[in-house]
Amino acid sequence: MDKIVALCKRRGFIYPGSEIYGGLANSWDFGPLGVELKNKIKQLWWRFFVSSQDDMVGIDGGIILNQKVWQASGHLENFTDPLIECKNCHSRFRLDQISGSCPNCGSTDLAEPKKFNLMFKTFIGPVENETAQVYLRPETAQAIFINFKNVLNSTGKKLPFGIAQIGKAFRNEITPSNFIFRTREFEQMEIEYFVEEPENDEQWLNYFNNWQNKITKWIEFLGINSSKITLFDVPEKERAHYSKKTIDFLYQFPFGNEELYGLAYRTNFDLKNHEQFSKENLKYRDPLTNKEFWPHVIEPSMGVERTVLAILCEAFDDSNKERVILHLKPVLSPYQVAVFPLLANKPELVNKAKEVYKMLKNPANIINNFLNVYFDDRGNIGKRYYSQDEIGTPYCATIDFQTLQDETVTLRDRDTTNQIRIRIADLKNYLLEKINN
Ligand code: ATP
Repeated sequence: MDKIVALCKRRGFIYPGSEIYGGLANSWDFGPLGVELKNKIKQLWWRFFVSSQDDMVGIDGGIILNQKVWQASGHLENFTDPLIECKNCHSRFRLDQISGSCPNCGSTDLAEPKKFNLMFKTFIGPVENETAQVYLRPETAQAIFINFKNVLNSTGKKLPFGIAQIGKAFRNEITPSNFIFRTREFEQMEIEYFVEEPENDEQWLNYFNNWQNKITKWIEFLGINSSKITLFDVPEKERAHYSKKTIDFLYQFPFGNEELYGLAYRTNFDLKNHEQFSKENLKYRDPLTNKEFWPHVIEPSMGVERTVLAILCEAFDDSNKERVILHLKPVLSPYQVAVFPLLANKPELVNKAKEVYKMLKNPANIINNFLNVYFDDRGNIGKRYYSQDEIGTPYCATIDFQTLQDETVTLRDRDTTNQIRIRIADLKNYLLEKINN
């Protein structure tokens, strides 16, 4: 992990948060390369789960919602972790993260566990009183439930269908840890998939299994080896208050097998409660039978930062003494191709390299495709290759003296280091084919 954290900082994937002020514990900012990776994950997720599907639509709800939302959802009452304080050194821990003694000072003099609500509080407007108190959302899901009727009325969707959302969530975690794995501010990619009222367990389990398969496909699509994933059927007492079944997708991170994604069956808990609290009818009317009921919900929930971390852990390879390689899937790499002149002191090579770079960097290419291009003429060619390997650029195109003769370039493959000669005229299509594959 230390090597990954160091690489992320040095190359501009992820920086420690508020660093010039001595930092802000366990907070991180995404740099130029990190934001490329993160944005691609989000865009691909949206295309994978929403745009390419007939039964999906999306929304983008607020981070701050009416405080009654959190009453109705049960978060005010139940979104808590058991907090335990060491009476000797006053360090605080989550109950499940200690075993009998304080991890800080070793004392066994521990206070009784207390319920600690993880929602961040703030105030809306100039008066800081109870009626003005609001919360930063701890999950994106609730904006979907409270807009269920709006989406139904404006789209005419029929069951089963899902509503997706990507956005920030905030949890005042007692012990954030492990780089970007557990932080207090993070992004979620969530889907609430609404289905008919099930007559038996088999009916909702069918949907649940379908989603389990879809998430498995997405993980494969990201280039994460399925042998590193285990499924954990969460026992009842560890499940969230709204869940009748939860499967966690655990990834083998360097610090252990930990939750990457979750899949939960939320029953009709949320719509039912929001109807009760809001007095608005949130039922669905079956167009054939006219029967009214609250749809049941299957919820795939995926963290953006945990996706970034799993991808980086999976891609990181320092087994070769000479170079570190990030074996990122080409579509996910911050840059898909880097263009170099063989020698920086030969203007004819530099000019030709700039011409090739501009041809690829043409805004129409970049806007329409997952293609990002880098230009480098610093240092020697070997160093430039290693520098691109380390950030996961799958291809490097070098302009040499032969280019000036026959309009071909050398194209080097990151993983194999094999080089082919390719016509400049064919370069763009060749790269696009590799990226889209
Ligand atoms: P954990 O048990 O690790 O605290 P959770 O079960 O509370 O997680 P969910 O409520 O299921 O998590 O949240 C859905 C997804 O959001 C998780 O699978 C994870 O990818 C992401 N996530 C949750 N909490 C955090 C966090 N503090 N930092 C980063 N990502 C998070």
